[in-house]
Amino acid sequence: MTKLIFLGPPGAGKGTQGQVLAEFVNIPHISTGDILRSAIAKQTPLGIKAKNYVDNGNLVPDELILDLIEERLTQSDAQKGWILDGFPRNVAQADFLSSLLDKLNQNCDGVINLDVTDEIVTKRLLSRGREDDSELTIKNRLVVYRQQTAPLIDYYEQVKLLRNINGNRKPLEVSQEIKAIVKS
Ligand code: AMP
Repeated sequence: MTKLIFLGPPGAGKGTQGQVLAEFVNIPHISTGDILRSAIAKQTPLGIKAKNYVDNGNLVPDELILDLIEERLTQSDAQKGWILDGFPRNVAQADFLSSLLDKLNQNCDGVINLDVTDEIVTKRLLSRGREDDSELTIKNRLVVYRQQTAPLIDYYEQVKLLRNINGNRKPLEVSQEIKAIVKS
């Protein structure tokens, strides 16, 4: 498996696990959160438009993200595979991705859903100390996750792509299980 989506609440370990696996398989780790944070730091037009949404833990509007993903997935290093971390984040983005992959003659091989309790997620986020990791923002990001992103669990279950992973464990245990799935 080389074309994978990582799903899960903020703090589930998508970034850490995505990075580990991307190095293991030698494919790009594409994190929309990282792309947005870098755009905000550089104050690019995208960053300026995205800043308030990211600061408050809301999703940035789809139109800011969709072209960016299309452009990234058409780059040459993404032809042999990719790990999408933080995209799609709602059903409209998932529908867009599905049509985009059809257009590019690609298929998603699997969706790794990192299942982590709210308690553990909150603890991890509070200790991480990123700018959007204040207690209030964390609460909002969990609400946004539940309302907009969690429906993707059923969405990908229905098309038989979903693989549930218990993310309430040490990173090494989680990454071993993910590697085993990807190799199988
Ligand atoms: P992350 O690093 O994936 O937790 O993303 C950090 C923030 O970036 C989120 O709280 C959103 O504000 C924004 N973001 C990242 N990915 C997306 C996306 N696919 N759609 C909309 N907003 C996003």
